[in-house]
Amino acid sequence: TVGMISLDPKCSMAVGTSTSGLFMKKPGRTGDSALVGDGFYCDSEIGGAAATGLGEDIMKGCLCYEIVRLMGTGLTPQAACDKAVYPFIDKLKKRYGKVGEFSLVALNNKGEWGVATNVEFTFAAGDNKNAPKIMMANPGEDGTTV
Ligand code: ASP
Repeated sequence: TVGMISLDPKCSMAVGTSTSGLFMKKPGRTGDSALVGDGFYCDSEIGGAAATGLGEDIMKGCLCYEIVRLMGTGLTPQAACDKAVYPFIDKLKKRYGKVGEFSLVALNNKGEWGVATNVEFTFAAGDNKNAPKIMMANPGEDGTTV
């Protein structure tokens, strides 16, 4: 999936996702990328989030909605990503013994961003003055993104 969050000068925000779904998916499968709250979510008064990775696991947490909700309580995008994603990964591991690979990006309406991942993940961040910077995120030993 490619996920994108945009913020315009009037603080209007949008989120988009584009995906081919999972390799060898069953006909009729709907992944997270098409589902509001799971693969993407946006509220211009707060911010937006987008996900990539194993939709079956992302969907168990409504992760994009949860990240935006947490940003709405005053958390930075990075703090919201950390709080929504890493305890959820632990919960899935405990409950099912395993967890799929996935990554999330978030942007608030001040232009601050955050990421969370349990796999090496490439993302880009930029604004209208600076060209987007391509960056790599890795899961740290304590579960947060480095
Ligand atoms: N999230 C997508 C899905 O589960 C897969 C992907 O990220 O490529 O359909």
